[in-house]
Amino acid sequence: MAKTTTLTCPHCGHVSRETMRSTDQVECAIRCFECDTMIVAPADAHCVWCAYADPACPIIQNQASCNPVIIPPAHSSTR
Ligand SMILES: [Zn+2]
Ligand SMILES: [Zn+2]
Repeated sequence: MAKTTTLTCPHCGHVSRETMRSTDQVECAIRCFECDTMIVAPADAHCVWCAYADPACPIIQNQASCNPVIIPPAHSSTR
């Protein structure tokens, strides 16, 4: 299970490597280091990792088989 993820900022497009701190804590918002804007998860997303990061959060990785709430990034068509 991946604990580091690649987060793409929806505001400035900055891609950063992030470490997900906890496997049982849902991150609803995280501040972008580049543009200093709060990245907030959309209402239909599980968390910011699910909405803007690849791979998604550890919680979804654990529950992928029974709780398919994964929202693929729109720009992930290359693979
Ligand atoms: Zn940003
Ligand atoms: Zn999530």
